[in-house]
Amino acid sequence: MEIRHGIPVSPGIVISEALVLDSEELRIPQRFVEDQYIDSEIDRFKQAVDDSNKVLDLEIKRLGEEIEIHARILSVHRDLASDPVLHKEIEQSIRDNSFTAEHALSRVMNRYVRKLQDLNSPILSERIHDLQDVEKLLLSTLLGKRIEGLSNLQDEVVVIAHNLTPAQTAKLDPKMVKGFATDVGGKTSHTAIMGRALGIPAVVGLDDISTSVVGGDQIIIDGYRGAVIINPDEGQIAEYRARALKSEKLSRRLKSQAKLPAETIDGHRVEVHANIELPSEVESAVECGAAGIGLYRTEFIHLQAPSSGEEVHFENYRSVLESLGGLPLTIRTLDLGGDKLPEGGLEEENPFLGCRSIRWCLANPGPFRAQIRAILRAGELGPVRLMLPMITSISELDLSLQIIDEVADELRREEIPFDENIPIGVMVEVPSLALIASHVAGRVSYLSVGTNDLVQYTLAVDRGNEHVASLYDPMHPAVLYLISQLVRTGQEHGVRVSLCGEMASESIYLPLLVGLGLREISVSPQLIPEVKQVIRSLIDYEVRELSARCLQMSDGEQITRELHRWAVDHFPEVVDRF
Ligand code: PEP
Ligand code: MG
Repeated sequence: MEIRHGIPVSPGIVISEALVLDSEELRIPQRFVEDQYIDSEIDRFKQAVDDSNKVLDLEIKRLGEEIEIHARILSVHRDLASDPVLHKEIEQSIRDNSFTAEHALSRVMNRYVRKLQDLNSPILSERIHDLQDVEKLLLSTLLGKRIEGLSNLQDEVVVIAHNLTPAQTAKLDPKMVKGFATDVGGKTSHTAIMGRALGIPAVVGLDDISTSVVGGDQIIIDGYRGAVIINPDEGQIAEYRARALKSEKLSRRLKSQAKLPAETIDGHRVEVHANIELPSEVESAVECGAAGIGLYRTEFIHLQAPSSGEEVHFENYRSVLESLGGLPLTIRTLDLGGDKLPEGGLEEENPFLGCRSIRWCLANPGPFRAQIRAILRAGELGPVRLMLPMITSISELDLSLQIIDEVADELRREEIPFDENIPIGVMVEVPSLALIASHVAGRVSYLSVGTNDLVQYTLAVDRGNEHVASLYDPMHPAVLYLISQLVRTGQEHGVRVSLCGEMASESIYLPLLVGLGLREISVSPQLIPEVKQVIRSLIDYEVRELSARCLQMSDGEQITRELHRWAVDHFPEVVDRF
């Protein structure tokens, strides 16, 4: 048994077998053999070593004549694969534990990798890669035709990986993949957001979980507290089962009240919308009581099929509008770049500060215009709002608005019906825009605060980097100052201000946000019932006083402590889950 602590990014508890993914997505289907097959399992391992060495010999010979350096690397692999000490350990592990050859191999190799990692030496990191390459070679030889990816899972699993890209995460089948844990990542990385969208518990930033777990290990993922338990004992399994049951009971109760309005005790209504990444989420958003879609992250349309043009976008929006049955839909234009690199996109040193989001769109007018055409046309079918992400200046905003005008002219000339009065808004995700909000307000119909990025860009903390995760503080007074000023500017100019970052999904932050005057928020669908319930427990004048008090504080930790105390007093059962 071993407990690891990381960053909880998607709530829930799951107990299941591990599927360890490496970059080639090899997985080990079986962990134990019956005792009578132990000798043949050892023979199978020896045979795999012989076969692998033959492959390596042939490669070394071929490469030796052309590319000497590669041949030398393969010779190192051959020496490792033939190492008698390694063989002895693996054979012993099969014999002593009744492990399959694959499982014993992974365990022993992981132990060596961990030892080298602990030495923290850049020179030895090459040896780690060599060991991992040899493991992969032997594993694929052992598995032969039984190499399986994530696509045809027969049993429920939790996925353990070094990293998952947002696009890879989007492809996980939540019927089979019940949770995931990764070495890297942060709370508001798009992989984490996708985990919440799929409604599966997830913990990231676990450092070396991918080399600590072997396929088939039993794993508990606690997505509330950020713990991952490897091969738990009976007591822990019982404890987590009980916690999962209690939490599910609460979720069921909250869901049964999800359609009730989110109104404070003294009658202030807050509209709670849903953030979605995929059209398949709309149904659950409506079931969970969403008042509409406050953020549709359309870039996944592009990531799944980069050549998607106007018609693909239009059909997509049409199907979402149909499922929404008259509820409003906010479509954000493509936010590519950062951790959502488009095919053929620039490999940049600092992708979050590079050609991301609206910058990518303005540099790639073809796909941008096609998407705007589709959004304007979809506006004819239902209440659609268009939203521009990551605007940093008035000139960037004016250029984007000019392109939208040109596209509207085009549609008019072509006599294609579209919404002439579509509300156009911007996301406030960069401090520069928050600081000039009064200039922005006259140009748009609404402002939507994207706190995931606003925190990242205000505090200079990469939202996806686990090494600086403790500095990523949504309660930093500078962030709260920007949000409160923005709400005030919106009120002064009669422009609606909403908030669609993950900050609004954290129950303990809600009293503060409502107290600041926010009346529209957007969160992951699964979290809506809880968010609405928390809002129903608030009294507006009390939370206004609370937020005024917090705004006077100079330290994020102090603010968080104050909000935590408040939450424990006002909605203890929700806090209890964390
Ligand atoms: C945000 O930055 O807060 C936001 C909602 O956008 P995304 O998470 O997609 O960057
Ligand atoms: Mg953003």
